[in-house]
Amino acid sequence: MHFSHLSCNLRFFFRRLLFTALIVVSNAVYAELPDLGDPTLKTFGTEEEKKLGLMFFQTLKNNLAFIDDPQLNYYIKNLGQKLATHSDAADKNFKFFIIDSAAINAFAGPDAHIGINSGLFLESANESQLASVMAHEISHVSQRHLARAIDKSGTSAIATFATVLAAILLGSQDSQVTQAVLYTGLAGAQQNSINFTRTNEYEADRIGIGILAKSGINPQGMVDFFSTLLSKSSDGGIEYLRTHPLNTNRVSEAKDRVQKIQLNLPEDSQDFQFAHARLEVLSNTNPSINIKPNIARSSNDISLYKYSLELIRNNNLTKAITNLETLSKRNNHPWIKLALAKAYQSNNQSRQSLTLLKELSEFFPGYLPVTLLYADTLTINGHASKSISLLKHQLQTNDQSIIYKTLARAYFKNGQIDAALESTGDQYEKEGYYELALQQYEMALQQPNLSVTTNKRLQTKKETLKLSTNNKSERQ
Ligand SMILES: [Zn+2]
Repeated sequence: MHFSHLSCNLRFFFRRLLFTALIVVSNAVYAELPDLGDPTLKTFGTEEEKKLGLMFFQTLKNNLAFIDDPQLNYYIKNLGQKLATHSDAADKNFKFFIIDSAAINAFAGPDAHIGINSGLFLESANESQLASVMAHEISHVSQRHLARAIDKSGTSAIATFATVLAAILLGSQDSQVTQAVLYTGLAGAQQNSINFTRTNEYEADRIGIGILAKSGINPQGMVDFFSTLLSKSSDGGIEYLRTHPLNTNRVSEAKDRVQKIQLNLPEDSQDFQFAHARLEVLSNTNPSINIKPNIARSSNDISLYKYSLELIRNNNLTKAITNLETLSKRNNHPWIKLALAKAYQSNNQSRQSLTLLKELSEFFPGYLPVTLLYADTLTINGHASKSISLLKHQLQTNDQSIIYKTLARAYFKNGQIDAALESTGDQYEKEGYYELALQQYEMALQQPNLSVTTNKRLQTKKETLKLSTNNKSERQ
């Protein structure tokens, strides 16, 4: 196992690994890279960064599994946003997501894309440990370490960008081939590039500690998580130390800094515990393993929640419902009722499910995980039009692509094919898949009996999209 950051990796890789990496990464990746103009780009500009960020994210999407759970995504975005607000890059549009991978890893990619592996999330014992890694990554963004590395590298822009993508793929694979390339690259890494990386690591720790304190999270988590990582590195070892410059000096410096602050801040939250339990169940590929009757489970809310999720996963719905009903009487956390609503629905108790979700949506108005489950449950129970208005309302304050995706299902169930296609187009547009978005709008325009307004709106969307993609290629 190793822990590494894309940006850390990058700075390591830059000089020696560049060409080797490109050989390992399939030609397809290289071929996807657009011409980004000025081959001796010295300042990594906002436009280039956005474009690269989009490519970066799509490359991740095409090569890695993501945790596709609205509740966990809500949690990680919410925690990330809280931290980002207290950074020097508060105006940046940060994107936080969880990669479904057991490798202990986290990275800061271009255009404020912050990825956390499920392995790292699960290794964190409390919120402050997870947040410390995220704050460190946010600091890489706020200090523009990636941009500075790209400027410093002095390679041509296109090759630099290719390296970014190569590093992502290298970081994502555990095959012996990529490991070999990694070692070769690192063995040849120049000392000044290593120093540059180390300086950035210290800087990201220092600024990260400040972000944690300002966000009301105990920065002790950073020191504790370092200890975990170091203890892990001794048994699996050198690989980790080679890919990430964490040493005892870095740990003691963080320790001193945290001790000087001496803030009495919480290290954990109930949200973290629920999210941790949920991720543990969702990322467990052998779900039956943990099903053992255990009296101790019922005394602890988090254990009982986790046990209930395992029961749902094993289709033991009656037992799951009993447990969740008990739990929901003594703990108000919305995720308990969300699990209960899901269990009711799976157990063909749709009336109970809808009643509970209605109650939840009134109690937590605009809370995305509730809206999404409520909308889908309405849709599958023949109330698609109600689902549509619920989602449209949510779109007034939040326009994440998953809402369009859920809306498309509701429209489809409601027989509004043109609207379903349009929503899918909107979803693709949000995700940066402009060609696919255009195709959906085209198909929507071909539907019979379109109203004049719909026709006009779709034409406008199409033109705007074409115009923006043309502009982008003109700037290249
Ligand atoms: Zn780092």
